[in-house]
Amino acid sequence: MKIYILDEKYKFDVEQTAIMLMPEREPRVTVGLQPVQSDGSDYGTVDVLFSDNSVLACCTLVLDGEKESRSCRAVKTAAHTEQSWAREVAHTVRRSVYRTFVILTGQKPAWGSLAGVRPGKLARGFLESGMTPKETLSKLENGYYIRKDKAALALKAAEVALELKAELTPNDIALYIDVPFCPSRCAYCSFISRTTGVGEGAADAYLDALELEIAAVREVIKNADANIKAVYIGGGTPTSLTPAQLSRMLTALDSLEIPSGCEYTLEAGRPDTITAERLEAVLGHGVTRVSVNPQTFSQKVLDTIGRNHSVKEVSEAVELVRKMTDLEINMDLIAGLPGESTAVFAAGVLRASDLDPDNITVHTLALKRGSDFALRMGKQTSPEALAVMVEGSATLLKQQGYEPYYLYRQKYMNGSFENVGYAREGKICRYNVYMMDELLPVIALGCGGSTKITREDKGRFIRITNPKYPEEYISRIDEIVDKKRRIELR
Ligand code: SF4
Repeated sequence: MKIYILDEKYKFDVEQTAIMLMPEREPRVTVGLQPVQSDGSDYGTVDVLFSDNSVLACCTLVLDGEKESRSCRAVKTAAHTEQSWAREVAHTVRRSVYRTFVILTGQKPAWGSLAGVRPGKLARGFLESGMTPKETLSKLENGYYIRKDKAALALKAAEVALELKAELTPNDIALYIDVPFCPSRCAYCSFISRTTGVGEGAADAYLDALELEIAAVREVIKNADANIKAVYIGGGTPTSLTPAQLSRMLTALDSLEIPSGCEYTLEAGRPDTITAERLEAVLGHGVTRVSVNPQTFSQKVLDTIGRNHSVKEVSEAVELVRKMTDLEINMDLIAGLPGESTAVFAAGVLRASDLDPDNITVHTLALKRGSDFALRMGKQTSPEALAVMVEGSATLLKQQGYEPYYLYRQKYMNGSFENVGYAREGKICRYNVYMMDELLPVIALGCGGSTKITREDKGRFIRITNPKYPEEYISRIDEIVDKKRRIELR
């Protein structure tokens, strides 16, 4: 559906809110006057009107032939800075879309008018501005219409982030390394990954380029006297590299002098890639954490989504990791996979916790444009069934001794849900919190990597994005290295 707005400045706010509220209608915002609409299709308009000290946002939505309009107003006070007033105006625009949607559909999304993907960071901002936890909850519930349990989840994530932030020094950084290869492509995946057979030249050429980028980052770290707090190797499936290639990559990363005690995650992801030879290759490089991702414990669903491994291989992989290493283990599950009932999903949550990983992350299937399968099949699960899965998993995991510690939302999520990381006591993944709350600079290496240098103390935000595709990453490595060398951390 199209939504028309005259002021381009609020295009992003309107589009984000509309996408979060009704992803299945694939809303798009167009700047300009609404043309005469005669074909009965859905549409919307948003007008933003200013007076000397106030703003009025008026939204009209027409969905399935029904029309509704609502306005929201905010008044500028002496306490507003230019920045806080700009935020208030954007929030007022989003509220107008939310309130019109609620009146028209009767639905009250659990995350209210929140369009951002970092609810914990929003709550942290309130705590840091001097609000008490109770006032923060009230602001989330009454200012953003967020449901009580979700507001409590955001507050919990904010409190964990504040604790981690208090331990950080200005020299701390995190590293992300992307390995864009997988043993086969899962049908729902929208990541840029290439399937690779063991030992294929593509991965060797990729590692040639990655080594050059690592060398450039080594200089940056050295010059800034930076301290690496966390390393995360993701993708893709990093363990789809051969043992020799894995060892080569980890040896190159050793040159960064990753301090002992640094949290160091290797996403193994696909259990069919976890072998004794690969684990041998990982030992001795400081890796502390590994992901073994079942996604589901239903063989039928695994076959439908084309993950090309069995449920049995999940427990075998966990057993092997435990036998050969003392690595912490994370497991990812996805709610809303096609053909998975609420009962089968709940049984899967229990089977995951029976394997006793340190972390369990529960994702909700995103209806991403990069995956036709996800778009088609994801809609098979109703928002009501998803709510049972997501809320049921929170209860089950709590009963099994796991506590939520971080969360994020995604655009095009099926329903108003979130991805939540749960951890056993003292076992949170710090990288997840650092990255999601933008607590320290993250230098990203490899294709698709997005380096973010956030320095709140210096009001600095720099983003450098590497090319998405491995072929482009390899062919443009000189330019990438040049950009990396010029990063100023301090
Ligand atoms: S293993 Fe993960 S990254 Fe690779 S294709 Fe499957 S979902 Fe995508």
